[in-house]
Amino acid sequence: MGCTLIENGYLIPMNKNEVVADGAVAFEGTRIIYVGATKGFDRQKHRPDTIINARGKAILPGLINTHIHLVGAYMKGLTEDVPGSGDTAGLYKRGFPVVCSLADEDYYSGCMTHALEMIMSGTTTISSTFLNERLVGPVAKDLGIRAVLSEWIVGTDLLKLSARNMERPWDQSLVEKGLDAAQELFENWHGKADGRITTRISPGGPGYLSDKGIEQTRDLAKKHGVGINIHIAEVPGETEFVLARYGKRPMELGRDLGILTPETIGFHCVFLNDSDIEIMHETGMNLSHTAFHTPKRGYFPPMEKVHKRGVSVSIGSDWCSNDLWKFIRSSILFPRVKTGDVSLMEGYDALRLATVGGARALGMEKDIGTLEVGKKADIILLDLTLPWYRPIRIENLISNIVYNSNGSDVTDVFVDGVRVVSDRAVTTVDAEAIMQDCQSRAERVWGVVSKNW
Ligand SMILES: [Zn+2]
Repeated sequence: MGCTLIENGYLIPMNKNEVVADGAVAFEGTRIIYVGATKGFDRQKHRPDTIINARGKAILPGLINTHIHLVGAYMKGLTEDVPGSGDTAGLYKRGFPVVCSLADEDYYSGCMTHALEMIMSGTTTISSTFLNERLVGPVAKDLGIRAVLSEWIVGTDLLKLSARNMERPWDQSLVEKGLDAAQELFENWHGKADGRITTRISPGGPGYLSDKGIEQTRDLAKKHGVGINIHIAEVPGETEFVLARYGKRPMELGRDLGILTPETIGFHCVFLNDSDIEIMHETGMNLSHTAFHTPKRGYFPPMEKVHKRGVSVSIGSDWCSNDLWKFIRSSILFPRVKTGDVSLMEGYDALRLATVGGARALGMEKDIGTLEVGKKADIILLDLTLPWYRPIRIENLISNIVYNSNGSDVTDVFVDGVRVVSDRAVTTVDAEAIMQDCQSRAERVWGVVSKNW
């Protein structure tokens, strides 16, 4: 098993708010064997056969995205500016019709295009959810990204949804189909690619799935001992719909159905009152905060209260924009604008959400989220020679990075010790050919669906 040494960089392990000015990381196989000053590494003992000079670069743990719909590449630019929407009209009028029109063969290059965006901008772990997630398995396997896959189990026709009208008929046959697909996904992909790919269970939120359907998904997750993802308190009108139907708010319903636990990730969680936040705290559930996504729809969760109550928070992108550096920044800026309080959160705290927070949410904190001996070699290098980082003051480097970084500044990405991105080029798949294939498929699908816009 060869040893790789990455040396002479600004080392930011993220287990504390600290930068090592001339730092190094070394790994053998998939595991990290050294983190510290370059001069402290024992070359005689470990005899590295690959040495990477990271001078002028930051060495960081890979970022973690706890909520993505990979198929959303086909929505890029379509749903964000739909006139008069302000919320979900773009998704219902254009987004769902597009992704529900895809043939199986459209998934690979579409999902890979979104995955390329993430890996090239420094995200090494993703949690992907949508219909037909079996088609995403090969994407994660071929690209070399760490992935958690989950079938989205819904009980209503996505093409009949309309913004602010949550009244919808439930179709139990859709639920059974989703449960079967989730079971199949577990059997075929859980623990695959040397454990790099795992699965979870994703019930649609109470706006997409009946209470009975949610209970069925809960039981399936228990049976397999895997975590749950759920869109909850996500969109305007959901709270009123759930109150009218069940006499309780979405978080109360989720708690009473037994699906909010430390192994659960709530996606978005925007429309929260104080008692909802209390439930999140009490149940120990995690929040996947889509900080650059929900502002596009004109709303933002009360994160100042969520953080103060100590709720476990990670970062998710949802779809369309997946460079997590934007989300990290948005997670600081929007609460500051809303409250006028600049002391709520600083750069280090925000970067923790996209690293340590993601690892904790996915139950992977023993393996990823920080650079520490024994953890997986999921490592990224960020080019700090660019003018927007200069000059560098070591004491404030993490803030400098958080406020100024772009995904395109990431030069190298390692997942499980494999160099998936080398000098900004993906090594595992032909990125150019994949994006070209996605382009022609997108044009065909848009050509058909746009007739109804
Ligand atoms: Zn979502």
